[in-house]
Amino acid sequence: METEKVDMADEIVKDFPCPKCGSKDRFMSRIAQKEKDKGVLPEGLIGVLEVRSITVANPKPVIPYIPGMVKPCGNAYFDICFECGTYYCFRVEESMAILSRQQGMPTGHP
Ligand SMILES: [Zn+2]
Repeated sequence: METEKVDMADEIVKDFPCPKCGSKDRFMSRIAQKEKDKGVLPEGLIGVLEVRSITVANPKPVIPYIPGMVKPCGNAYFDICFECGTYYCFRVEESMAILSRQQGMPTGHP
């Protein structure tokens, strides 16, 4: 089952400074900014060390996924503080995905 991420009015994006020192100066953000300054990367991109995606799970296929069904999902973005070296989550995003038409054989994963 393929999913299609959609823009919805209730999408939430929240940013956090380093929890140890309060800085917003991040390692990958610096690297990305250098490339943006050179014109290599477009302005809208952000530097990220790691992204963890989350969604609701359907471990037992007792509830069928129906095309058009909405499910909550989100991303947590991690980087290293350039001031003190702390690895931390600097951004969380909460959004919704709409399941689109099934393509080919089901894989057991939505
Ligand atoms: Zn810090």
